[in-house]
Amino acid sequence: MALLLKTEVLVVGSGPGGATSAALLAEAGQDVLLVEEGRRYRVGEVESYTLSEMDLKYRNGGLTPAMGPTRVTYIEGRCVGGASEINAALYHLPLPETLDDWTARFDLDELSFADLEPRFRAIEREVGVSHRQDGLSPASRTLIKGADRLGWRHTEIERFWRYSPKPDGSLSDRRQSMSETLVPRAEAAGARLLAQTRIRRLVLDGRRAVAAIGTTVGRDGREQPVEIRFDRVVLACGAVQTPALLRRSGVTRNIGDSLRMHPMIRIAARFPDKVNEPHWGVPVQQVEEFKPHITLGCSHSALPHIALWLAGDVPDKRARLAEWEHIAVFYSAVAGQTLGTVRSLPFFDEAFVRYRLTRGDMALLGDSVHKLSELVFAAGATEVVNPIEGGPLVRHPRELVGYRAGLPHGKVNVTAIHLFSSCPMGGNPQRSATDPWGQLYDLDNVMLNDASILPDTPGVNPQATIMAIARRNVERALERG
Ligand SMILES: Cc1cc2nc3c(=O)[nH]c(=O)nc-3n(C[C@H](O)[C@H](O)[C@H](O)COP(=O)(O)OP(=O)(O)OC[C@H]3O[C@@H](n4cnc5c(N)ncnc54)[C@H](O)[C@@H]3O)c2cc1C
Repeated sequence: MALLLKTEVLVVGSGPGGATSAALLAEAGQDVLLVEEGRRYRVGEVESYTLSEMDLKYRNGGLTPAMGPTRVTYIEGRCVGGASEINAALYHLPLPETLDDWTARFDLDELSFADLEPRFRAIEREVGVSHRQDGLSPASRTLIKGADRLGWRHTEIERFWRYSPKPDGSLSDRRQSMSETLVPRAEAAGARLLAQTRIRRLVLDGRRAVAAIGTTVGRDGREQPVEIRFDRVVLACGAVQTPALLRRSGVTRNIGDSLRMHPMIRIAARFPDKVNEPHWGVPVQQVEEFKPHITLGCSHSALPHIALWLAGDVPDKRARLAEWEHIAVFYSAVAGQTLGTVRSLPFFDEAFVRYRLTRGDMALLGDSVHKLSELVFAAGATEVVNPIEGGPLVRHPRELVGYRAGLPHGKVNVTAIHLFSSCPMGGNPQRSATDPWGQLYDLDNVMLNDASILPDTPGVNPQATIMAIARRNVERALERG
């Protein structure tokens, strides 16, 4: 028999969008039940950037393919806190011109930088944001050196992080993910959290959703069916799972037809000096010069990551790996214009994602990789692993200049960690899934409040934008009663 639960507001998904929604609604006195498919872990309980973290906190171990002529492997978090638990935690505000462009193209309102600014200040105050207080990693300093030599603007991005002094005068630091901040805040305001609970579909009655059907894990560790009845529901399952859940429930208009990403390519570069000390985590410097179209930065470069990016036909692989401290991994990410689709297939529980990188995106990726090689060679790199599978080692940026016309399909390793826009908000119901405040057009009591409603690619790390828009939408919903 199914476990039957009731709540005034059901929030599905506890990532940045869901945790923000749950905290604000609970603090406004609403009866909130927050459900999350993944488990709850304390910050630090699972070591970051390890295989066991990928196994426990990522969906499908972190490697889900989107189908297309060039396969794009995308990453989703699946644990209390969503991807805020596994991400680089970079806190990047959107560019004001991006918000103005969205406002004009998608018939939006009250979405200028000035409108969102009080929400950013609230996030900074309540969640916690800071620059690194323990210096810059060798990889970050390498990026600065290259950018300075080329005359490119660069900056240190703040992180969702807090530092506090210890009695001995040193600093302790802690990631400010959702499990550490807004989820406990929601609970303190009376919200109930039900982890390890996957919602499979919504039950509809005319223009209303009345219940959610899924599975939960009981105290005895066994999975059991669950039915949750509610007055209103906020869906915040992320850019792939929110449309997948809606489509499984029979809601399909403008749902899952416009998934956007920041496709990303990584290259490993070798330097005469040591550039790699993995305890620094993800480096925090980015090149500003080409945003929002292209972002250049450094990735976490632990030995397994380097081994991954040295896969393929790299000669003397063992000797190179033995010198891993001289190797760092760098990335270029672009504001992709491809529109992907999210579908739910009958008898198959996973979302099916198609993402066919356009010729324009392959050219932008090629241009970005060429720029990235300019950056690392200007910083003193002696060789770069070719981003094309089976390509020779690169010793000068001119060897990659031909890719500016477009990378060849099927021969590059493209990944994505920023996904959005699969259920875009906007003033035109013919083109958008929700109204300008996240209210689903086709059902009266369903709000979407996560990455899926961003109308287009932000071109910068998206978590700050997702959280500020989530606050804006809940504040409006509360005002409207
Ligand atoms: C490796 C990585 C690094 C990143 N680095 C950065 C960064 O440095 N800065 C930045 O700004 N952004 C970064 N991002 C992106 C950022 O983390 C995401 O944009 C953001 O977390 C999206 O928030 P969300 O609320 O839309 O959903 P998510 O964070 O995806 O959370 C959705 C939650 O819903 C749950 N869920 C899904 N379906 C169901 C269901 N049916 N029933 C119940 N629960 C469900 C999932 O398990 C998940 O926990 C990174 C992402 C990744 C993966």
